[in-house]
Amino acid sequence: MAGRRLLILGGGFGGLDVVRSVGRSRAARGYWDTLLIDKENFFQFNPLLPAVATGAVETRHIVYPFREMARHRHIRFHKNKVIEIDLDRRRVRLHNNLVEPFDVLVIAVGSETEYYGVPGAIENTRPFKTLVDAMTLRARVVELFEMAEQAESMEQRRRLLSFAIVGGGVTGVEVAAELVEMARETLLPMFPSLHASHLSVTVIESKNRVVANARPEHSDYVRRFLERRGVTLRFGAGATRVEPRCVHLADGSLVEAFTIVWTAGVRPPGLVQTLPMSRVPDGRIKVDEFLRGLDREGRPREDVFVIGDCAAADRGDGTFQPRLAQTAVKMGSYVGKLLVQRATGRPIEPFEYREMGYIISLGKHSSVVELFGIPISGRLGWLLWASAYLIKMVGLRKQLEVGIDHLTHLWFEHDVSQILSRRQILSDEELNLSLGPGASAGEHGTTPDRRRAGLADG
Ligand SMILES: Cc1cc2nc3c(=O)[nH]c(=O)nc-3n(C[C@H](O)[C@H](O)[C@H](O)COP(=O)(O)OP(=O)(O)OC[C@H]3O[C@@H](n4cnc5c(N)ncnc54)[C@H](O)[C@@H]3O)c2cc1C
Repeated sequence: MAGRRLLILGGGFGGLDVVRSVGRSRAARGYWDTLLIDKENFFQFNPLLPAVATGAVETRHIVYPFREMARHRHIRFHKNKVIEIDLDRRRVRLHNNLVEPFDVLVIAVGSETEYYGVPGAIENTRPFKTLVDAMTLRARVVELFEMAEQAESMEQRRRLLSFAIVGGGVTGVEVAAELVEMARETLLPMFPSLHASHLSVTVIESKNRVVANARPEHSDYVRRFLERRGVTLRFGAGATRVEPRCVHLADGSLVEAFTIVWTAGVRPPGLVQTLPMSRVPDGRIKVDEFLRGLDREGRPREDVFVIGDCAAADRGDGTFQPRLAQTAVKMGSYVGKLLVQRATGRPIEPFEYREMGYIISLGKHSSVVELFGIPISGRLGWLLWASAYLIKMVGLRKQLEVGIDHLTHLWFEHDVSQILSRRQILSDEELNLSLGPGASAGEHGTTPDRRRAGLADG
């Protein structure tokens, strides 16, 4: 039995690649006693979450169980939540007060939704980070179409079918594009009394263009694509306050929506933010050229590696690597290789980050891609998007499943089976909403502020 305890926290894009490298090497397996801990029992392929949210890709096809990985890679796995990391005593505390010691620690716990302290944002918006978020949104959209179909007034239909997405980054525009595609191509033809004019989707972005990190011509392409499909884009004024069914913007205007989705940003989990390490202003832990975490004095710790969304690796120009799946994968495979080299006593080169580009999916009609500096958009972009993610899926089974989803989705409609119950997707107030004669879809959610603003429902 190997002696040195290698503890990997988080089996996402970063952690999984550490496991794969270490598990693949016989020498490393003999050297390290590897334990992966994750609060979920599966790896989740985030870039396809927007497609899951509309039924374009099946839920289970984008996840991969850690138990299967552990068996194939000969490592141990615990499904548990890490509550605290004690660097001095080299141990972590888990849910249920369990304690797990380590000799070497890899921190790869990703990020959580950042609300920037906007009042009401946590209570009145829906996050879009997990598989459950995506499944719930999909079921909710279908349920709201069912409710709108039965509602008695045009005003009620419009209110029920109003969606706002706060955050016009990659996730926000992908959710908007998928949502509009599902609504227009699948749902509207299925609901005879509903019409495109009943539907509204608004994307709110504080910067002056959507997907601001992409090249300007791609931002422009995305804007035109969404506007052609009836999405309203609000630029240059971020959300300052969120009430039930209403987002207040910095320029004093309001966006009303029955469903508000928050995709405006991420930050490292609290677990990481409280560690006594050097960090950058957005809370990520600074790492050196070998991805070792830097302590408060800026010295690298030999026993702590930080990778993925919670790490800040200097790109050499004072900026830090973007929080993307491709970065996490590169960091994970680098640290995996480094740990194998440690086991075999061979030297290792410093980590070098080279961005490959980006992919923004706009449903089955189009994608914009930048690959090693070359811009591509339209259907060719979609083909590249679909193939790139297929290659990246974990294992042949998932590649086949997602491949078949892509193909069937080209010819067939979205699957609108709701599966989740109304109680799982609607609030108590929404469950009791009166849609009968004289009632209004938003009457229970109307706040004094909105009444003052002349926005009372009905
Ligand atoms: C909706 C969405 C769409 C995205 N689309 C793209 C895209 O198109 N392209 C792209 O490059 N990037 C995309 N990203 C970003 C990308 O997913 C992340 O940059 C990447 O997942 C970061 O990898 P990671 O290993 O750091 O964290 P993750 O992949 O998030 O993995 C973190 C793991 O840690 C576990 N964990 C967290 N806290 C604990 C704890 N306390 N105890 C135990 N386990 C814990 C989690 O369960 C998870 O398995 C998207 C993200 C989202 C949410």
